[in-house]
Amino acid sequence: MKLYLVPTPIGNLEDITLRAVNVLKAADVILAEDTRTSGVLMKHLGISKPLQSYHIHNEHQTVQRVVEQISKGKTYALVSDAGTPAISDPGFLLVRECLRQGIAVECLPGPTAFVPALVNSGLPADRFTFEGFLPHKKGRQTRLQQLVEEERTMIFYESPHRLLKTLEQLAEVFGPDRPASVSRELTKLFEETVRGTLTEIKAYFAEKPIKGEIVLCVAGAERRKESKKKYSNDDTDQEDEDE
Ligand code: SAM
Repeated sequence: MKLYLVPTPIGNLEDITLRAVNVLKAADVILAEDTRTSGVLMKHLGISKPLQSYHIHNEHQTVQRVVEQISKGKTYALVSDAGTPAISDPGFLLVRECLRQGIAVECLPGPTAFVPALVNSGLPADRFTFEGFLPHKKGRQTRLQQLVEEERTMIFYESPHRLLKTLEQLAEVFGPDRPASVSRELTKLFEETVRGTLTEIKAYFAEKPIKGEIVLCVAGAERRKESKKKYSNDDTDQEDEDE
């Protein structure tokens, strides 16, 4: 009687963990965001288990039924199309309801796009904020304004066709020289990470068609000073040590 959240590869199939395979093999039912996408992965892994659909359009209706089944002693595993369930993907509602009803929940560690993007960015990774997708229209400016004074490195998920517009808006809000990075197609054949100021990165991507999946990292306001100091060998600046 348990719900497992099982991360799946974000590109490279070798990133599935041994434990993920074992948990999926032992589950009674696998809940999948897209049963066709997950069906292909399960076939590749040699796993043959009932797959049930669980996505943003049916999760409200599905949660109670799933919780009932788990309460009766079944073990369910939730997977999303890629990465860790509940990270910009369905999962939160089910986790919350299971916990409310005293059902054990366990999320396995595994693939997710934001961690390699953050580490590859070279920006401070000791404190960061995961912003997921910015709202497309309503609330977008409000959200950006809320981040003006954010000191931690900020991580955004973005789609390729919105990247240039987002870089432009971020440059307006944070200033054109704010350090940032764009990681594209992580773990895949054409993986690349482009680092520079918001303006430099925008200029790079303005010159070619933008394809694939994207994570954008932006330096935080104060941390920028700190990372500059760390890498500048300027040990006369004692500002932080004295605080
Ligand atoms: N649950 C996933 C996770 O743990 O990262 C995120 C799912 S969200 C619907 C999809 C977004 O994640 C993409 O639009 C992109 O921003 C990011 N993403 C997923 N895979 C990626 C990859 N291989 N390279 C870069 N970004 C990726």
